[in-house]
Amino acid sequence: MTPGQTVELMTREGLFLARAAYSPHSQIRARIWTFDPDEKVDFEFFRRRINSSISIRQRMGFYNLETSKKQKTACRLIHGESDLLPGLIVDQYADHLVAQFLSAGAEFWKTTIVELLIEITGIQNIYNRSDSDARLMEGMPIEKGLIHGIIEDPISIVENDLNYKINLIEGHKTGFYLDQCRNRKRVRELARDCDVLDCFSYTGGFSMNALAGGAKSIVTIDSSGDSLSTAKENISNNNLPLEKAEFIEGDVFHLLRKFRDSRRSFDMIVLDPPKFAQSTSQVEKASRGYKDINLLAFKLLRPGGILVTFSCSGGIKIELFQKIVAGAALDAGAKSTIIERLHQSGDHPVSLEFPEGSYLKGLICIRN
Ligand code: SAH
Repeated sequence: MTPGQTVELMTREGLFLARAAYSPHSQIRARIWTFDPDEKVDFEFFRRRINSSISIRQRMGFYNLETSKKQKTACRLIHGESDLLPGLIVDQYADHLVAQFLSAGAEFWKTTIVELLIEITGIQNIYNRSDSDARLMEGMPIEKGLIHGIIEDPISIVENDLNYKINLIEGHKTGFYLDQCRNRKRVRELARDCDVLDCFSYTGGFSMNALAGGAKSIVTIDSSGDSLSTAKENISNNNLPLEKAEFIEGDVFHLLRKFRDSRRSFDMIVLDPPKFAQSTSQVEKASRGYKDINLLAFKLLRPGGILVTFSCSGGIKIELFQKIVAGAALDAGAKSTIIERLHQSGDHPVSLEFPEGSYLKGLICIRN
């Protein structure tokens, strides 16, 4: 049997359970396409599923078939399991689609999926960013390249009225952290007159929003010099006050200690680290990492200051994350209150049958 081929899952007694994609090399041997015995997995199946994912985004105002290309907006159109298409990720950036085929099943149906994406969205330019380690666990090689049309790189997109330069070929994930869209906007609303510290900035999403919201100053930290150069470009392309920004290339763990020792302080700190726990076996070590940066951040926070802190590790549940942040505040001697809980944007939905799909969690805490 070929990897990705559709199989029927049966009970021991021979009763139908589900139709699934077979993946002989993965720990997850079969990924469910449908629990409906009458639903075939064929061209029309994918048409229904893709149509349904896209109409959710349309209904929620993330995507518009007519205007999104022209207005250069970006959004996640298909979010794997949560859209009942396990292993398939499709992000739209203006008139480009970037896809990831991360399961044997998604790979098996790639040609069909691409044909339908073009037909349904009318977008011709499709790039494959299946350069994720998740492929290795499915026994598939890492892959990237043009699938259809032409690719413009970098391209420019608009999110909440700000322009972003996006590198579709070399950028992180599919080019951008679309999941933080709503939270970047929230930072903009809270940043007025603040001295802001943006840790793990990537291309400056939170920094730009802080400046757009009237921040007094920002310090933008990332370990990648290229990301910081793009952050600078993004800030000046949007006519935001570059003179209020300081960029530091380096390790956040180290720099936060340096700031503590030199008694620097801020009114707002954003912590948006990469995934510290790749799997549940790394939860303990990851917890120590989160505790460390949050503790240091609380120490740098002025009274009345705001900490916006995230974890995108699926293995760290919100209850644990809140405990870590509480422990960090306690050890820092910074009495604090949660004023808001944050989540991934709505174009990264969570299927009720797949709560693991809820991976990005954030807390806005105020230091009393
Ligand atoms: N906040 C960003 C996304 C952050 S992604 C946005 O809204 O777009 C995480 C970033 O952390 C990456 O850009 C990566 O280069 C950076 N990074 C990873 N480890 C780091 C470290 N130890 N110190 C500083 N930056 C780090």
